[in-house]
Amino acid sequence: MEANQKVALLERIKQQRFLPITEQTPLIYQQYSQLIDSRNTNEVAELLFYEGEYFFRIGDLTQALRYFSRCLQAPKKDSFGYLDALSYNLVGMVYMHLGQEAIAQNDFLRCRSISKEQGLSHEYSVSCVNLGTLYQELENYDDALACYDLALKSAPEDDKNSYNLRALCQICRGIILCKQNRKEELFSLRQALQQLLADNEHLFYHAVISDFNIRLYDFLRDKEQLKENLDRMITAPPTGHDFIEQETFYFDVCSYLLDRGLKDELRVLLDYMKQCANNTPLITIQQKLQEYEVKYAKAFGSDADYLAACELFLKLEMECKENQRSAKLYSLDYMERLRQAKNDSEMYLEKSKLDPMTGLLNKYTIRFLIEEDLAKKDSSAPAAMLIIDLDHFKQINDTLGHLAGDSFICQTAQSIQNYFKDRALCGRIGGDEFLIYFNKVTDSSFVELQAEILRQGICQQVSQRSITVTGQASIGIAFSSESCYNYDTLFAAADKALYRAKLEGRNKIIVADS
Ligand code: GH3
Ligand code: MG
Repeated sequence: MEANQKVALLERIKQQRFLPITEQTPLIYQQYSQLIDSRNTNEVAELLFYEGEYFFRIGDLTQALRYFSRCLQAPKKDSFGYLDALSYNLVGMVYMHLGQEAIAQNDFLRCRSISKEQGLSHEYSVSCVNLGTLYQELENYDDALACYDLALKSAPEDDKNSYNLRALCQICRGIILCKQNRKEELFSLRQALQQLLADNEHLFYHAVISDFNIRLYDFLRDKEQLKENLDRMITAPPTGHDFIEQETFYFDVCSYLLDRGLKDELRVLLDYMKQCANNTPLITIQQKLQEYEVKYAKAFGSDADYLAACELFLKLEMECKENQRSAKLYSLDYMERLRQAKNDSEMYLEKSKLDPMTGLLNKYTIRFLIEEDLAKKDSSAPAAMLIIDLDHFKQINDTLGHLAGDSFICQTAQSIQNYFKDRALCGRIGGDEFLIYFNKVTDSSFVELQAEILRQGICQQVSQRSITVTGQASIGIAFSSESCYNYDTLFAAADKALYRAKLEGRNKIIVADS
């Protein structure tokens, strides 16, 4: 039942990526996050990516970066490396919005090389399109065209998913060809595009198409078609989120209208864009809009209008500068964290296997999973951490030999698995040291009882030939709280409790003071 619900929710999240965002959208992520298995690193990484994408779409770039960098840091197994490619692409788009083209370019190139390595042709093309858009924004049209060509060549031909991608490439090329007056290429592109757009039901880049059509019919001097397309663009219902993804093309139409002196149309479009921009906290878009208000007032308004528009523009520009400064600081920090994450993930990959002797999680894996869990934890029920250390284990080694020692460690691990496997994360974190983590505890005395049962289970005789030794263990327990909220603080508390158990004679359980 729960498994079905989980699959259905993930399916909805995937569909949601291409639908307008509603108030329901964040709830789907929330529901899904409660069902995922925090031990499954792929599921964790996937959710982090989708959440980042959601924040990007609503224009909350800081949160978006936070989620993407966590996704990039999260270990991924098997075929889930594509999440890195997707994340780098969107991180690049975030930095484009922040006016940091160099960082954006770097991210797109990273996406491209990861995609190439892993044979992800769709992601490869997406990174080429994004690079193209970046060059196009900087009015470097030759490089932009080269990127779009490469994107088209590498996009999977009959793949439904890449329909939008191929259409987008062609349309972007078309806009540039119009601007550069490259008639013949434009006509052959138009033919290819007509075929592609015959089925435009699935196309979601409406602003991009309008931009192209407006430029095309202007080029063809077809006034009627031009007007029709212009009307379509300025009367479409405002959709704030699509607006962020396609803002470049709206602004491109603004500059066209301004160049042609089309005052009324520009007024309508600017008002329309303001309405869309109301939904986004993105200050850069507000500033760009105000820049057009200044140009509008200069071309068509009075001196007083112009001055007023300039004043507001300067105010927004200061705000933007301040914002950019913090974005720059943030990006330095982000680069640093990524570098660190790369080291971490290499180390993780190397050590990603379970503890080979017992099959429990090893200390790196369990730490990662606990950190993940604590990071998204609400305060409704605390988590519990148990550290178990065998008592006088050296004696077992010394009297019965290392092999007997090993087998006692394995027996203990087996007891831990038997009692807790389905309810808690279980790991071996040292020679004779184990860790158990419960993510939600509604009754703390129940945890203590479970620990007691485990302690008694471990307490058994180990014999070899005529020598018999009793194996036993001490256990420290800590519950998460305001002062114990991350791995390190929780671990320190449980470890301190364990130390007390050893001091007070061993073979017992101590719960950390809250
Ligand atoms: P205490 O009661 O204070 O915990 O004493 P202890 O003898 O258990 O000492 P401690 O926990 O500090 O050390 C654990 C010992 O376990 C150290 C090492 O000799 C031994 N050990 C560590 N890893 C392995 C292993 O994989 N196999 C075996 N047989 N012994 C190990
Ligand atoms: Mg010990």
